[in-house]
Amino acid sequence: MIPVLDLKAQYRTIKSELDAAVIRVLENAQFILGPEVAAFENEFAGYCGAAEAVGVNSGTSALHLALLAAGIGSDDEVITSPFTFIATAAAIVYTGARPVFVDIDPASFNMDVTRIEAAITPRTRAILPVHLFGQPADMDPIMDIARRHGLVVIEDAAQSHGAEYKGRRVGSIGEMGCFSFYPGKNLGACGEGGAVVTNNAAYARKIRLLRDWGSERKYVHELKGYNYRMEGMQGAILRVKLRHLEKWTEARRAHAARYGELLEDCGVRLPEVMPYGRHVYHVYTIRGADRDAWRAELQQHEIQTGIHYPVPVHLQPAYADLGYGRGAFPVAEQAAAQVLALPIYPEMTGSQLEEVAVALRLAATRAHLSPAV
Ligand SMILES: *Cc1c(COP(=O)(O)O)cnc(C)c1O
Repeated sequence: MIPVLDLKAQYRTIKSELDAAVIRVLENAQFILGPEVAAFENEFAGYCGAAEAVGVNSGTSALHLALLAAGIGSDDEVITSPFTFIATAAAIVYTGARPVFVDIDPASFNMDVTRIEAAITPRTRAILPVHLFGQPADMDPIMDIARRHGLVVIEDAAQSHGAEYKGRRVGSIGEMGCFSFYPGKNLGACGEGGAVVTNNAAYARKIRLLRDWGSERKYVHELKGYNYRMEGMQGAILRVKLRHLEKWTEARRAHAARYGELLEDCGVRLPEVMPYGRHVYHVYTIRGADRDAWRAELQQHEIQTGIHYPVPVHLQPAYADLGYGRGAFPVAEQAAAQVLALPIYPEMTGSQLEEVAVALRLAATRAHLSPAV
């Protein structure tokens, strides 16, 4: 069985370091925030090229607090992508604001920047681009539109730790950048975790307050806050893993390049890398009309695949009240029908990559000879 990712294999490579970090926290008993979280925040801010990072208990909390720090609330609109994990839209809804979607660019799967201006209304307060699958959104036009219309830009970088746009790390380009450390992300905790990075001290301070009951001094509540604190254990674990992240990212990129060679000219549309960016391959997404047939055949070869995402946000039952119907975002809808994620993780071996490619080539030939009806 070749899984889409293998967290046990990762643990085996860093077991002694990780075990020591966990024991350190058990011994110092700083289970919530504390010195390990503070140290991780400094190290992660440095990694992202940002002045500050604020650790929280999930990527969803990071998005929620970034939106609140920007003053977004009911009657406001936030422009984002309909082709993303549900949390992006959910965080907007948590604030009382309305997500307004723009369709995606079929090559990058990210927001089609040429459609943003038409979606701006007098209620628009922010743009929330998602760097999907590890590839940066086209940030220059987004920042330019935001500047001209007085909007805040909050990056959803939950899938893109270390991705770069024209040499700058994602998360540090907009006013705030939000990361998830869900275990399967490129930098993953052993549990839940997230962070907001920013160069703006006022935003950072407000997020620090909001994550901990709006309080800097015990039992004095300056703001109506939340229990969104990062755990000490996760801070210690993330510090260990951050030291390995660049090496892991380079392994992902090498695997993607190898897939590119092995899958050349086999009728499968491979991921397209935009000229402006460093893709960190959180997900290796291929696409084609025969997606379901490929998936079934790979399953028979004991190769696991994923579909990110089979239903775009605007067609989710929970978000029907936004009033978008089928056909509202045809590029996102077609992507949802065609995408397939192949196994990609740093510890994958050359022979595993070859095994996947051989099975996929076979599947692509077969599906092409007897197309699914
Ligand atoms: C994972 C993810 C989130 C949410 O992060 P959690 O840590 O699971 O709350 C948000 N946006 C995107 C694009 C994600 O992939």
